[in-house]
Amino acid sequence: MTLVFQPRDDVLSWGRAHRGRQSLGRPADASELRAWAAVDKGPRLARGLGRSYGDSGLHAEGRLIDMTGLDRFRSFDAKTGLLRAQAGLSLATLLKVTAPQGWFVPVTPGTRHVTLGGAVAHDVHGKNHSWAGTFGRHVRALSLLRSDRGLIEITPQSDPELFAATVGGMGLTGLIVEVTLQLTAIASTDLVVETLPLGGLDDFFALNLQSLERFEQTVAWIDCAQRGSKLGLGVYTRANWATDGGCVAQGDRRGPSLPFEAPSFALNRVSLSLFNQAYRAVQLARPRRARLAYGDVFYPLDAVQNWNRLYGRSGFYQYQSVVPHQGGREALADMLRIIGRSGEGSPLVVLKSFGALASPGMLSFPRPGYTLALDFRNRGQATQALLARLDEVVRAAKGALYPAKDGRMPRDMFELSFPQAQRFLTYRDPACGSDFLTRMGL
Ligand SMILES: Cc1cc2nc3c(=O)[nH]c(=O)nc-3n(C[C@H](O)[C@H](O)[C@H](O)COP(=O)(O)OP(=O)(O)OC[C@H]3O[C@@H](n4cnc5c(N)ncnc54)[C@H](O)[C@@H]3O)c2cc1C
Repeated sequence: MTLVFQPRDDVLSWGRAHRGRQSLGRPADASELRAWAAVDKGPRLARGLGRSYGDSGLHAEGRLIDMTGLDRFRSFDAKTGLLRAQAGLSLATLLKVTAPQGWFVPVTPGTRHVTLGGAVAHDVHGKNHSWAGTFGRHVRALSLLRSDRGLIEITPQSDPELFAATVGGMGLTGLIVEVTLQLTAIASTDLVVETLPLGGLDDFFALNLQSLERFEQTVAWIDCAQRGSKLGLGVYTRANWATDGGCVAQGDRRGPSLPFEAPSFALNRVSLSLFNQAYRAVQLARPRRARLAYGDVFYPLDAVQNWNRLYGRSGFYQYQSVVPHQGGREALADMLRIIGRSGEGSPLVVLKSFGALASPGMLSFPRPGYTLALDFRNRGQATQALLARLDEVVRAAKGALYPAKDGRMPRDMFELSFPQAQRFLTYRDPACGSDFLTRMGL
């Protein structure tokens, strides 16, 4: 059967700021994918669940291969936690099967609606970077469908260079068909969570220092509308897996869906400030120590479907940077000052730290330091100018920006962020490209 591609105007990135026509085909299974690949050597890019914010998952000049039809488990050893599955399997479906049996993904992003292929292709990180590093560190093998070499199996030992290019490689080294992943044993599907107030940035650094060794999961939420002595006001959360209670099935708890794009006035300086005050109060009203299901700890945003429509028709940009420990405190303060003065920013501002565990990919984003992530409603030129000011701070601090979240970084920021970019390009599948790569002029 021939794979059918259709022109689509509704295939967007999560930030919804990039619009245009994409040609999308969805193979129902691996044999349909392989049959297509045997005859079509034209430009292509794999697509997962479209949770990347910018244009790394789009390819206007080629064909987008929706990989979500390849979502079968291949094997799972409940004694060792070694899993082999097709790359279109979502973490949500994976966890429904493995979590009740006592196995969790070693690293999870802030949504479970990502595919294994997408998690590898951006070498995603979680709230446990100091303990587990990135997702790619736990990948034992990949099967990769390339336009020039066909279907090949690679491991970190068999082909270390191509493996390092593929982990974090934004789908540009070929279509990942299957992933072998080592899961992590858990004794309970709950976590014991502590929620603490942050009076400012100094509190963050002090709490973080005393928490990183004792707590596997750590993250801070920051009120970006605050300025002056309240700069960095927020909430710090730290958690460990519970050691008792056993593992039970947890539903997706998919809540309401935002039915339409919010009008552009819905998110402004006043509503942002009010939301932030209310959010902080609700968080801190919880008992300081609580036992929570993993879905509530890792995936609170999944409770509102299509929350990305909140930013209106023009969409939004996420800005996620990492700055080194040395000089990081000043850089974070500078960025928060710039954001506070602008009156822009989002209710969802996350500050985390990355530890020393090396990332395996040539284009992996995590490296030791502090990472700050927040959304900006797309207000055109004004937003571009604001983000360019943040670039200056990141540049001066010798930091980096995260391509999974990016829809606008200039090429020099990309090259500064990823000194191995030219080496990476030698491993690119000649047929693979993306709107991100085109934008970089590479
Ligand atoms: C609410 C939310 C929270 C998030 N939190 C985090 C976080 O905490 N940490 C973090 O690191 N990221 C986070 N992300 C980003 C997200 O984890 C990544 O963007 C991830 O890559 C999305 O996976 P996806 O399946 O949706 O892939 P897509 O967004 O569809 O594609 C992403 C990239 O993967 C490639 N790709 C997808 N499938 C394949 C395949 N089978 N073979 C080859 N390449 C493939 C695509 O070509 C593209 O380059 C978050 C995103 C959201 C929306």
